[in-house]
Amino acid sequence: MSKTKYVFVTGGVTSSLGKGIISASLAKLLQARGYSVTIQKFDPYINVDPGTMNPYEHGECYVTDDGAETDLDLGHYERFLNITTSQANNVTTGRIYQTVIDNERTGKYLGKTVQVIPHITDEIKRRMTLLGNSGDYDIIITELGGTVGDIESLPYVEAVRQLRWELGVDSTIVIHLTLIPYLSAAGELKTKPTQHSVKTLLELGVQPDILVCRTEHNLSIDIRKKIALFCNVKQNAVIESLDVKSIYEVPMVMMKEKLDKVTLSKLRLPARGEPQMEDWKDFLVRLKHPKSEVTIGLVGKYVELPDAYKSINEAFNHAAAVNECKITVKLFQSESIYPDNVESKLRGLDGVLVAPGFGDRGIEGKIETIKYLRENNIPFFGICLGMQCAVIEYARNVLGMKRAHSTEMSKTTKFPVIDLMESQKNVKKKGGTMRLGAYKCNLEKGSLSAKAYGKTSISERHRHRFEFNNKFRNEFMASGLKPVGFNPENDLVEIVELQNHPWFVGVQFHPELKSTVANPHPLFVKFVKAAMEKVARETDAA
Ligand code: GLN
Repeated sequence: MSKTKYVFVTGGVTSSLGKGIISASLAKLLQARGYSVTIQKFDPYINVDPGTMNPYEHGECYVTDDGAETDLDLGHYERFLNITTSQANNVTTGRIYQTVIDNERTGKYLGKTVQVIPHITDEIKRRMTLLGNSGDYDIIITELGGTVGDIESLPYVEAVRQLRWELGVDSTIVIHLTLIPYLSAAGELKTKPTQHSVKTLLELGVQPDILVCRTEHNLSIDIRKKIALFCNVKQNAVIESLDVKSIYEVPMVMMKEKLDKVTLSKLRLPARGEPQMEDWKDFLVRLKHPKSEVTIGLVGKYVELPDAYKSINEAFNHAAAVNECKITVKLFQSESIYPDNVESKLRGLDGVLVAPGFGDRGIEGKIETIKYLRENNIPFFGICLGMQCAVIEYARNVLGMKRAHSTEMSKTTKFPVIDLMESQKNVKKKGGTMRLGAYKCNLEKGSLSAKAYGKTSISERHRHRFEFNNKFRNEFMASGLKPVGFNPENDLVEIVELQNHPWFVGVQFHPELKSTVANPHPLFVKFVKAAMEKVARETDAA
């Protein structure tokens, strides 16, 4: 195996330029040329992981098979590359300091003053090369969170500077993602912010090799020349990144701009022909040329921030392509749904997904939504808290368990149909202590889920503390809302399905985390199909 090469991706001028998507797109193209690639993200905040952050702060918390609570960019990496990532793919300043402070306490640096350089930067470098040292990858792409010039990013840029010298300039490159704003009053694209951002990097001892320029207008040859001249890069290393409608177009745009080719030549690696992107192109064609259309409601409490439900939205995109169906996702704030407006709000939807979540805000709106879907034969998909709400709704309105609830919301309910898991009862610390990561689940033969997966043994990712209360299992087994998926080790109920309904499935796990372009999630595919069938039935009836 050849030595692992490293690509570092930094961001300048402003945040939200899409470093994650550029990193994932480059990785996709390199993978499509036969290279073994993975991506890792280094986040400069002090939380040990984003698991303790509100989605309003940081968007969705993405969970890996090994139970790491990570940045949502890891979701993009998995969706684009169809690989699994792990804790090693996401490192924060909090994690780095935690390790260094633990080392200090155990006496690893005995006699020394522990400092940012070399101790913190050494730990950053150790983690930056950890996956590379496994020998499993030809190329590791490392995305640095934050913007160059931020105080908190400094140790990371310094670690990159050191690594470039230690590993050699042929083994490492730096791609700087920057913004070329368009001033409409002047009718011009402006390169000055990019010049300044590269200057900041240079002051820190890092010369970028490639500039990916985010822009709303094409970069002329003159602009490219100017950027190249001021920023000491070759003209072919000035890559235009025009705004596109879908993130899935970015790999094709980057291929046209030859980002992958320039990267490989700078790393002294052979191009190996052209990238095999046929399946990806096929996916794009299906996505862009739908033959039918459905409207799906997404009922949750973080709807103001689209990033909060990132993986769910992307899983819908994957399911849309498979079904060649345009999906319009309409967001509903669950707090605004009441018994007297539920019908007027949800009428006309072809299916509704009730989202995951924590705490009691908006819970009654979710329960009201589910009652309406159950009674009106509208396809329902409940994820995690959404599944728990379906159990509560059924207990209250069908099984006669008045004020049934989850003990997350009501400690004193007479019918705790959702309860804290036994293993959670003594947990006091909040960080990293939920039931996290991949667990097996056995499916009942003939269930909607078993049919969707085409098998009866699956593995899905979890992130929760509460669970279907097995004390009520018999009552539910004998009723219309049947448990049909079970964890084989501890017998926890993982899936419930309503009988005699077109499609009503609640899952305790998070299927959205495993949907990729190459492997769209079967439950999302079938849920969308059920919505399409509802539309077809109504068209036939009209
Ligand atoms: N709050 C619920 C629990 O902890 C559901 C969590 C979720 O939806 N991710 O069990």
